[in-house]
Amino acid sequence: MATLSTGSRNDARKHALLRDYQLKTAQHTRLLDGRKYPCCGCNRSVGKDFYMFEATSRATKAHSFMYAGEDCAQTIIQFSASTSTPLVDLPYFDPLTGASRTSRGSGTRPGGSVAKWAPLNRELFYAINLTFLAMKLKPGSTLSKVLETITTNPSQVRPTTAPALNTIIERNLDSTHGSLTDYVNDLRVRNPTMKQYPFTLIRGALKNLSTPPIDYL
Ligand SMILES: [Zn+2]
Repeated sequence: MATLSTGSRNDARKHALLRDYQLKTAQHTRLLDGRKYPCCGCNRSVGKDFYMFEATSRATKAHSFMYAGEDCAQTIIQFSASTSTPLVDLPYFDPLTGASRTSRGSGTRPGGSVAKWAPLNRELFYAINLTFLAMKLKPGSTLSKVLETITTNPSQVRPTTAPALNTIIERNLDSTHGSLTDYVNDLRVRNPTMKQYPFTLIRGALKNLSTPPIDYL
């Protein structure tokens, strides 16, 4: 048998990932100072920009998070197009500046910009990204389902989305943090230029509910 080149060996690993795991795109973002993640099984670490996937083992049904740098992730998304469960690309979110941009990727929709999204959905998208970045969520939470709801219909505001995020944050708080903002402030220790996130629209949406919950943003 011919020896595989590094490139095709890495491609084979990515095909194997898609065969062994049900993947779901959870975020496309920047690597913060103080963090390091292994990339997709290619023996590298992710670079400045990376994707996080929620992975469910097809054999054991166990949940985990998986990381891939920009290039590897684009390849995985591209390879997934020929499977029965193509991966959805996501807009890129920069937690330091709060900017988002269209994914350069080849992936399936909706990798586009969040510029034209309903303003509440745009804020929810940022808050979900920050929740994934700042809190130690267990894989398999319903947060990626909330994200999916927003990204598939970005112009449609659903009254259930803000309270769903609020509840996920509440359930994942530990004894030293009372809100998502507390966790985001922890990230500021190593990333002092990070933008402030007031979450004005989400807080407003929670207040407007018939039974307003305690706000954990
Ligand atoms: Zn990789």
